[in-house]
Amino acid sequence: MCDKSVVINQIKKMPKFELHLHLEGAFTFEFLFELIEKYGGTPEIKTIDDLKDKFVFKDFNNFIETWYWKNQFFREYVDFEELAFNTLKDLAKQNVLYVELFFSPWDFNSSGFEAELITNSVIQGVKRGEKSFGIRCNLIADLVRNHGATNSLKRLDEITPFINNGIIGIGLGGSEKEFPTNLFKEVFIEAKKRGFRTTIHAGEAAGADSIWAALLDCKTERIGHGVRAIEDPMLIDYLIRKKIPLEICITSNLMTKVFDSIENHPFKYLDEMGIVATINSDDPPMFGSNITNELILINKEFGYGIKELVRLMKNSVKAAFLEEKDKNIYINELDKFLHSASNI
Ligand SMILES: [Zn+2]
Repeated sequence: MCDKSVVINQIKKMPKFELHLHLEGAFTFEFLFELIEKYGGTPEIKTIDDLKDKFVFKDFNNFIETWYWKNQFFREYVDFEELAFNTLKDLAKQNVLYVELFFSPWDFNSSGFEAELITNSVIQGVKRGEKSFGIRCNLIADLVRNHGATNSLKRLDEITPFINNGIIGIGLGGSEKEFPTNLFKEVFIEAKKRGFRTTIHAGEAAGADSIWAALLDCKTERIGHGVRAIEDPMLIDYLIRKKIPLEICITSNLMTKVFDSIENHPFKYLDEMGIVATINSDDPPMFGSNITNELILINKEFGYGIKELVRLMKNSVKAAFLEEKDKNIYINELDKFLHSASNI
């Protein structure tokens, strides 16, 4: 097990679980290239390599520009179905057995799409993907902070018919500093009443106060990112005591400059303190990563071996919005894998 390539091979084979992945940022380059070709191409992108080059960002503004640039190639509802299908195909190739996928059907309102119809298409794509690749997926609708609390309540009504019929929960991404978490208290309390599971992006662009608001005002079950909990020892203590899982996305944090270097990233400290740390990829092609690479990174930078990485995957299973009997099946899969890996 000391040979690096053996470990990398084991990581590739490891059953994986991901809780923080955005559908709109999870496309493969092959799929996006197909879409571009479908709509007649664009002079600047002649090959998949040109496309990959476009996703090497000069700065944060360029990142945002590129995010919107790619959205112009989603022109029919079937494109969203194919996006979901291809995303599950790519995850299954990495041995991901279960994923909770954020999606935000309202992001395409200005292009004339209806959120309800995008939702239907995404659910279709997910169902096809589950059938074809044996992976399981639950969707989490990201209400997006930037459109305000009043809109969030309307959005909650729009997705309520899909509860436990494709959509399992709600999330809250977007500009954390400009649209503070406490504004969304009402929508999260209402969502809980309706049976939605809940997670909130907090402690990424804003600090510990944002995480406190997500926990105490919005009563969220999980925190997206949450890494800036490091700024408040009382909060760390609370997260440990209440077993609140953090959906940690290391490469994403480095790319968006939440931390300036991997040495300064608090993942290992939070994990060693006893926080339920889960590992995720956020927007893989946008950040040049994926769940496999995140695990390889943790092995390389923090010295975690297969046993420790399996423990992190178990954290994801325990933190998943799944029933206990399903969690037990996945925990057994991980134990089986660990057993076979230790025999090498
Ligand atoms: Zn995210």
